[in-house]
Amino acid sequence: MSCSDEYASHVAGDLIQITPQVQSKLKKAKYGVYNHSAVELCHWTKKSFANEGSCYKHKFYGISTHRCMEMTPAAMNCENRCIYCWRPAEFYDTLEMPAELVDEPDVIVEQLLKERKKLINGFYGSAKNDKVKLDESLLPAHYAISLSGEPTMYPKLPQLIRYLKTLKATKSIFLVTNGQEPAMLRRLVDEDALPTQIYLSTNASNKKMFHAINRPLHADAWERWWESLRFLSTVDTRTVLRMTLIRGHNDGSGFVGEFAQMMAEGNPHFIELKSYMHVGMSTERLERGDMLEMYEVRDYAKKLCAAMPSFNVMDESEISRIVVLQNGRRRVDRWINAYLEV
Ligand code: SF4
Repeated sequence: MSCSDEYASHVAGDLIQITPQVQSKLKKAKYGVYNHSAVELCHWTKKSFANEGSCYKHKFYGISTHRCMEMTPAAMNCENRCIYCWRPAEFYDTLEMPAELVDEPDVIVEQLLKERKKLINGFYGSAKNDKVKLDESLLPAHYAISLSGEPTMYPKLPQLIRYLKTLKATKSIFLVTNGQEPAMLRRLVDEDALPTQIYLSTNASNKKMFHAINRPLHADAWERWWESLRFLSTVDTRTVLRMTLIRGHNDGSGFVGEFAQMMAEGNPHFIELKSYMHVGMSTERLERGDMLEMYEVRDYAKKLCAAMPSFNVMDESEISRIVVLQNGRRRVDRWINAYLEV
């Protein structure tokens, strides 16, 4: 653990905190920050306030965009340095978050809800925004535990998910992981804390590609990722493999067979194929031309389906350049509006 201000987080008092320098960068980027946690209003949440569209998660699975809260309990902690990461991966500085140095789940949620409220307050001033939606957005129905950093590094993640489930308005919880903490994924089962849907970032079909794209810090990163993939194949909740296609890095036809074989081992309910987006800090590592056009994403989806007969194209979002495939061998209703009864 670094105690220097040159890094993204340090120990201040008894807790891990994002350093003031990085906090001010995050706040400039319109994040709400509390110690090591953060919240943001994504592009589509803001659009939905003005009834100008909704996120692909609404189109694919029925998630209410304005009532979705994107948050992370580990904003500046990650084991990887992915080339496509929107976030300032160069700042991620630690490989562990000791339990005695982190906030309790109820404190994180309470504080991030306050931060979210502050961010939403600014939208009441514009006549184009729907006041009913703004009021509703203060009480999230959906939690997306992702945003920035790697949430499975937060040692109280099972308690956090269980706490979110106790909130009256909660209908669903998504967790996005890079697969570097398979032991934490097993804890979610053991501690009765499975989220509604688990996403595993799946961007490489072999070890060499994995290291080139994800630039992991753990020496056994590839093995850790595979353990997580195998976990997904049997876990009793909805699962998604999410592949970010980056031109010249993982989109070659020559790798489709390798990807198909590997993804079949994970046997997920869904596969989301999306183009890399040239935004945020990734613009310093990749070129605009590294994004795929929608027709190229569709083409890749077609090739993958040809190599994985149990999968079919379920839907797509042109504006987000995503195609989603559904697994006929592990079929589940795509709509999750009322997944967690309230
Ligand atoms: S795993 Fe996620 S948060 Fe970590 S560097 Fe990669 S994209 Fe960024």
